[in-house]
Amino acid sequence: DAHLKKMAALKKLNAYITETPDKALAQADASDKRRAAGGKIGALDGIPLGIKDLFCTEGVQTTAGSHILEGFKPTYESTVTKNLFDAGAVMLGKLNLDEFAMGSSNKTSYYGNVINPWKRQGDSTDLVPGGSSGGSSAAVAARIAMAATGTDTGGSIRQPAALTGTVGIKPTYGRCSRWGIVAFASSLDQAGPIARSVEDCAIMLGAMAGHDPKDSTSVEMAVPDFRKGLTGNIKGLRVGIPKEYRVDGMSQEISDLWAKGAEWLKEQGAEIKEISLPHTKYALPTYYIIAPAEASSNLARYDGVRFGLRVPGNSLDEMYELTRAAGFGKEVKRRILIGTYVLSAGYYDAYYLQAQKVRALILKDFTDAFKDVDVILTPSTPSAAFGFNENEGDPVQMYLQDVFTVTVNLAGLPGISVPAGLDSKGLPLGLQMIGRAFDEETLLRSAQVLE
Ligand code: GLN
Repeated sequence: DAHLKKMAALKKLNAYITETPDKALAQADASDKRRAAGGKIGALDGIPLGIKDLFCTEGVQTTAGSHILEGFKPTYESTVTKNLFDAGAVMLGKLNLDEFAMGSSNKTSYYGNVINPWKRQGDSTDLVPGGSSGGSSAAVAARIAMAATGTDTGGSIRQPAALTGTVGIKPTYGRCSRWGIVAFASSLDQAGPIARSVEDCAIMLGAMAGHDPKDSTSVEMAVPDFRKGLTGNIKGLRVGIPKEYRVDGMSQEISDLWAKGAEWLKEQGAEIKEISLPHTKYALPTYYIIAPAEASSNLARYDGVRFGLRVPGNSLDEMYELTRAAGFGKEVKRRILIGTYVLSAGYYDAYYLQAQKVRALILKDFTDAFKDVDVILTPSTPSAAFGFNENEGDPVQMYLQDVFTVTVNLAGLPGISVPAGLDSKGLPLGLQMIGRAFDEETLLRSAQVLE
């Protein structure tokens, strides 16, 4: 009830696309009854969550932030949301996001901007909540969800978490099932939680994760008790500081915070080592070839026949064209064009194949580094939250937001962003930690020390 009331009071943030109070109250009621009957209580029993509107939810509109899916009500439940409901979670509604999860500001959503609850000191300018999981990060920061689901293809959990002072973890590729999540770039997409603390993330990730026969890339591996691993002990932990992440133009504030983070870990008994990830500079161009390539293929299914919007035409082809022209926004169209181009017969070898080779080298950088260190520490983002008119105009400016996060998706590794301090204007900044594949336990344990 407290959450529903606060959601009504904070509508101006535009964090939710669809609110589901009836479903929330019914699920909460069922939880109360389970407790009263002394029945089995799940890890998230009665916990009110927001769900990013990229997760298909049975009978509840699922838009992916796009006009083309307006009115689409899936007849099935995504595996991750099903797992959460099986653990007793309560769904408050579907959270706003960049269209098809493409963006870093939530500005590409057809359903309007999400406002970051944080403001610069003495300045009332509205700021972005990050993206693409901007509704999720804003809702958790504004306390209109106790935690939220996010998805992360190139940083969409970690960057919005950093910009709103919340914690977000992208688990290892294969840890959570992608079944029933609207696909953006299938080889990079992963689901994960955004929450108020590392401990909340650990509990929620435990409920979300697990093998699913419906997703052949989900791994058959037991899900550890992530909360139990939060011992606070990092004595002897080897922490790598990758020198290539000292990118040109990094602000003094971010680089100071990074050094402070290393210092805090050292005080707790960790050993700090400089490492090299030599192919880092190719990560953004590699990502912005592979992600649009996969997106252009995944988005081919929105044809006006099977889902959501249909704009009638005089022929089938014309109906396709009119529907896609009206249904997709500018950024999505740009990605489809880039993706189609890099996959086309004449350019496949030069762009897509080349990008796949570089991706293998980026993974090798990490594999080599993890021979010497247990986790890697970097900033989460190159800046704090920005205004809606900043980073405008040149799309590449926005792509630079992902400079520290995309490498992790290309290598399939787990990464977490934790709030680590405020900048001189009072805005939250985050630090990122990167772990070995399927070693979220060490990652969460180390990140909690920074919290
Ligand atoms: N900002 C990145 C992009 O626009 C990452 C998005 C994501 O992780 N879904 O592609």
